[in-house]
Amino acid sequence: MSDTSSTSPKRAAVIINPAKPVDIDVRGLMAKHSENNGWGEPIWLETTKDDPGVGQAKEALEQGADIVIAAGGDGTVRCVAEVLAGTGIPMGLLPLGTGNLLARNLGMDVTDVEGAMVGALTGWERKIDVVRAVRNDPDKEQVFLVMAGVGYDATIMADTNEDLKDKVGWLAYVDAGIRNLPGKPVKATIIVDGKDVVHRGVRSVMVGNCGKVQGNLEIFPDAKVDDGLLDVVVLAPKGKLGWFSVIAGMIGKGKGQDTSVEYFQGKSVEITLEHNDDYQLDGDHEGEGKHVVMTMDPEALTIRMAAN
Ligand SMILES: [Mg+2]
Repeated sequence: MSDTSSTSPKRAAVIINPAKPVDIDVRGLMAKHSENNGWGEPIWLETTKDDPGVGQAKEALEQGADIVIAAGGDGTVRCVAEVLAGTGIPMGLLPLGTGNLLARNLGMDVTDVEGAMVGALTGWERKIDVVRAVRNDPDKEQVFLVMAGVGYDATIMADTNEDLKDKVGWLAYVDAGIRNLPGKPVKATIIVDGKDVVHRGVRSVMVGNCGKVQGNLEIFPDAKVDDGLLDVVVLAPKGKLGWFSVIAGMIGKGKGQDTSVEYFQGKSVEITLEHNDDYQLDGDHEGEGKHVVMTMDPEALTIRMAAN
């Protein structure tokens, strides 16, 4: 809400993950750019292990922030987005660390922190889709912006440390995993827009809102962040060499006839597994689940960033 009769300057709230290493004076620079652009002193709120951003985002709204800036990685972004989705209050992105998948998918220069600050204060606004994921047992509703998954890719997220995950990227991990971590398929029923599309043993089901992960690998070649559709990829390798055809299928962007990799698009997906398996949202391991419903919330989140 804007109040043109108000004399108090606009204020940004910055929700910062203090664990992310930075070699610049984030607070000093943010204060400088706020002042230069006629904004008041930023409100600073730090995330903690117990509250990685949701509580701070609510606090930012209570304090009347005109924009809430997520300064951290995709985990911080996801938690802030959970609160801002549907409010109309824009979110800014200050990519810290090395992952920043949402920022990359939006075409931001993730190395230009000052550019990101100015973009958040004075840039253009665009609306993006948010995916609402409801998991049963344990019951939890969360949102994600980039991709979520159950099964093998979530196991990778559970097992790798942050640094390695950031440096190596997803494909390299899957590649390493093929050799080291055989595991077993889990019987899955996957329903897209109410239609039963898969009913068999799978290794991983990934649901995407954006296409790109690290290294510019496109897990979801057709995914767009504002098309109102979520993209589903089901990995069900057959036999011992099956994973190699999965990788080949992804590199070939699913053009082959190989059913080891199947793609679907829709507004909702319901995944039911025979037993609990690892579950991840935007790269954060969120424990285990066996039943999850993911539903598109189109254009629910406003992002303000530098034009690109
Ligand atoms: Mg989409």
